Amino acid sequence: MDVNAFRYDGNGAFSLSEFPTSKEISKDQKAQYEKMLAENTERIAELQDKLYAQGTEGVLVVIQAMDAAGKDGTIKHVMSGVNPQGVNVVNFKTPNTTELAHDYLWRCILGLPERGKIGIFNRSHYEDVLVVRVHEMWKGYKWPKRCFDMSEDEFFAKRFKQINNFEEYLYENGYRLVKIFLNISKEEQANRFIARIDEKDKNWKFSIGDVDESDLWPKYMQAYESMIAGTGSACAPWYVIPADQKWVARWLVSEAIIQALEDIDPEYPKLAADELEKFPAYRARLVGDDPEDAQAIEKAKAAIAKNVEKSKKKKEKKAKKSSKE
Ligand code: ATP
Ligand code: MG
Repeated sequence: MDVNAFRYDGNGAFSLSEFPTSKEISKDQKAQYEKMLAENTERIAELQDKLYAQGTEGVLVVIQAMDAAGKDGTIKHVMSGVNPQGVNVVNFKTPNTTELAHDYLWRCILGLPERGKIGIFNRSHYEDVLVVRVHEMWKGYKWPKRCFDMSEDEFFAKRFKQINNFEEYLYENGYRLVKIFLNISKEEQANRFIARIDEKDKNWKFSIGDVDESDLWPKYMQAYESMIAGTGSACAPWYVIPADQKWVARWLVSEAIIQALEDIDPEYPKLAADELEKFPAYRARLVGDDPEDAQAIEKAKAAIAKNVEKSKKKKEKKAKKSSKE
């Protein structure tokens, strides 16, 4: 399965109904998918390490979904191997009064990762074209008439344009965006709500407010469709991930993130030749030899060459092992 089958970058028309909520993969394959996810998390960790060392590009992963679609679990599982120093997760809740007193992108800018890091938005500026649209909140904001005296379609077309400009701006300033919509079916959502009632350890997750929101399903789906159609772009594509099977969704999200990281192709910074030339002398000093002594330098050079070869072989062996599996 190729994650690009679920990618929308603004090319052609977008229709949500063409994107499945499940690929109905046999349960027999669950262990296989979990193994593939584990390999991918290792790969993400490897790439993230280089991203951090290089420090020139940042990655922003935006995750949007209906309740119980698995946002939290996806973040937990997909990012499990990554150095915590290289990732930050920002949750976007109902805006507080300070946030509401600013433009809607303000809090997103505050939450952006530094270059070299992966930032995860658990919900995002897209709430401002989803919940805000479904509940017509925009009509109640305190702002000048010129800002909202128009039809709903016009208002949200403007927001899509603002978001596209914002995301293009980020791209042009060293960020990659990966936008994920965890596409769950209403039936599977109901199953997960029921499990929150039936299973003691999940009781705390149950919220009747989530069930009320679910009653607005068709309106939300319309808002999602219009949002993805209006904001999928080459520099900030959407991935409409089938989310009814969590283990498939998690693997697909890891694939989308790897794609963005491989596109960046981060490399460990290389030292200048004149600095590298000093390494044998540094090594000689560290092992207690005289760094001024020619023989000690030769010995250090030989040790460095031997260890370079050793780590190359180790890497090759590891690559061979994982290609066999
Ligand atoms: P979980 O339920 O797993 O803790 P969650 O993301 O659903 O995660 P909640 O605190 O339940 O967190 O919900 C956050 C709520 O905030 C959502 O209902 C969301 O629609 C709402 N929200 C987020 N951004 C905005 C916004 N800009 N305007 C209005 N409501 C928003
Ligand atoms: Mg919630």
